[in-house]
Amino acid sequence: MPERNLKRVIAATETSDGAGVRLRRSIGQSPLARLDPFLMLDEFGTDNPQDYIAGFPAHPHRGFETVTYMLDGHMLHEDHLGNRGDLRSGDVQWMTAGRGIIHSEMPQQTEGRMRGFQLWINLPAAEKMKPAAYRDIPAAAIPEVRLPGGGRARVIAGTLHSGGADTPGPIQGLGTEPIYFDIGLPGGGEFRHDLPQGHNAFVYLYEGVLCVGACDSQPLQRRCAGVLGAGVAVTLRAGAEGARLILLAARPLNEPVAQYGPFVMNTREELEQAVRDYQSGRLTA
Ligand code: MN
Repeated sequence: MPERNLKRVIAATETSDGAGVRLRRSIGQSPLARLDPFLMLDEFGTDNPQDYIAGFPAHPHRGFETVTYMLDGHMLHEDHLGNRGDLRSGDVQWMTAGRGIIHSEMPQQTEGRMRGFQLWINLPAAEKMKPAAYRDIPAAAIPEVRLPGGGRARVIAGTLHSGGADTPGPIQGLGTEPIYFDIGLPGGGEFRHDLPQGHNAFVYLYEGVLCVGACDSQPLQRRCAGVLGAGVAVTLRAGAEGARLILLAARPLNEPVAQYGPFVMNTREELEQAVRDYQSGRLTA
């Protein structure tokens, strides 16, 4: 099988969401910038409280999963059923919206750095209307592996194979078989890993410069998503200053996507039903 090379670069664009939180959106900045089953990736990262303090007051979701990964900061999640989840540095919340959730995501700090990611992963048609569910994963439950040659990888989803050992992450067994690694490499450090053939995959670089695959084109720049081509193994090599990135892969659904804001279904009729259900208070019923 060929090596996976860099197929497409999606530079993040600045946007705001919620009640005015500044974000950088790469995957999902337009319908043509999705990567099945990944619908969206937002990076939030700032030292200025004005960029995050307003948070995300109560809002709905239906039909997909949201994965929030905090690098720095403190956020409180509350839903309409009274479920609460505290997200602190290094924690992950994996939320399956299913048929519906109404929740808020609010900063619990008034100063200092807030940094992290929110990823949206689509659900297959057969699972879009299942009951909502949460996995709150504390930092201590996310294994961190020292890589040969320096660097380290945190394993959020899927299984990392390194130095002859397998390290499973806390998220396993979902229909889209996601892989989610957070990788830090020293200057010139290399990371090589197999991804299941047929999975769509991308890297998002949040610090440094990164050479992807054969590196016969320009290296990937900070705040860019690099979509990987077909193949199995991918090789990532950091520039002289080192690199920090997330590596994501999942099985594509190959189903039609109909999206209206926080509702992601297969058809326009299902979207209209979601809006009616939300307006009449039956989204989550
Ligand atoms: Mn939300």
